[in-house]
Amino acid sequence: MPQHPHLFADRIAGLGMTIFSEITRLSQEYNAVNLGQGFPDFDGPQEMKRLAMEAIASGQNQYASMIGMPALRRSIARHQSRFYVHEIDPETEVTVTSGATEGLLSSLLAFINPGDEVIVFEPCYDSYVPVIRMAGGIPIPVTLHEPLFKFNQHELREAFSPSTKAIIINTPHNPTGMMFNQLELGYIADLCQEFDVLAIMDEVYEHIVFDSAGHVQMRTLPDMKHRTITISSLGKTFSCTGWKIGWVIAPEELTIPIRNVHQYTVFSSATPFQGAAAAAMDLPDSYFSDLTEMYRSKRDFLAHALEGAGLHPILPDGAYFIMADTSEYPFPNMKAFARWMIKEIGIACIPNASFYVRPERAGNFVRFCFCKNNQTLEQAAERLALMRP
Ligand code: PMP
Ligand code: GLN
Repeated sequence: MPQHPHLFADRIAGLGMTIFSEITRLSQEYNAVNLGQGFPDFDGPQEMKRLAMEAIASGQNQYASMIGMPALRRSIARHQSRFYVHEIDPETEVTVTSGATEGLLSSLLAFINPGDEVIVFEPCYDSYVPVIRMAGGIPIPVTLHEPLFKFNQHELREAFSPSTKAIIINTPHNPTGMMFNQLELGYIADLCQEFDVLAIMDEVYEHIVFDSAGHVQMRTLPDMKHRTITISSLGKTFSCTGWKIGWVIAPEELTIPIRNVHQYTVFSSATPFQGAAAAAMDLPDSYFSDLTEMYRSKRDFLAHALEGAGLHPILPDGAYFIMADTSEYPFPNMKAFARWMIKEIGIACIPNASFYVRPERAGNFVRFCFCKNNQTLEQAAERLALMRP
């Protein structure tokens, strides 16, 4: 029991251990195949790792530039023009952060005043709501409806008000794998303009896209560049989630306040990884298409194994997660199901309710990740094959 609860800040009320840490711990305890927390169990490009090791060995071990190494900011700008045909200025519009997580925190602290409303789609990545609250904001949830996890236009419009300051959009989407298409983003863009709202885009899965329509960037839509903050990171695209190198792209006017927060919270991100990150971002197109194809085959493999076990998957268009419907297995809630899966079947997954502001809307879904090597997925498939509803 804490001895000094009266010393705790109000802003941490209700915060506990994340579901990812909780499930990973349980998974280790029972030696389960961990398809819960989303991190690859394989490494990114060899050359990228070599450059980071060389950077340490050759003395690149002191603070980097506060806004990020120039070489990395330039390669982030080149990446934008290569994949989205969109020019950005690496001097004034790119800031390197310690992962997308810090990019999101710095952005919210830069723009959210106490009482400002921030719209989030639920389910959503688990850091959004705590971070909105830490900034003093009020999360306003809009539900993505099964089975396709799409929003209802009327419900979204109802969520906007004169108090709305920002909307957070994650595409490709964690945990559902849904992608916001051009029409949907256009609808949201119109609302952002009507209500004078910032669009905060989380695009960390931008290169894990199976939908032939591809990834659409909000900032490229008409009249959206000046109110869009685009956040991404190295972790998913280059299988190095532990490096925690991310970036925020925003027009100069919005970049200045974000940098002001970043300089007094983190100041600068890990130096030896930045040169390696710059080289990775410049890898040829084939690296990025190979990554997608690798994940497409892992997705199809796991989806097939889940279907065989009566855990009906909703095939994702992007990211490395599959939502599975557990209705054939009667459990009082998905946490109980997840615990049972770990202990009795030997596979870890994440109960869907953890991603909801209103957990009662979560339904009978759990999330499995497929960012694992084929051996790990085969072991999971063997265990799934023993399951019967
Ligand atoms: N946003 C989403 C949707 C994620 O899934 C993750 C990965 N956990 C993050 C942000 C955090 O990214 P990073 O590790 O770069 O901070
Ligand atoms: N992004 C990962 C997931 O959604 C986990 C990140 C974390 O553990 N905070 O599973």
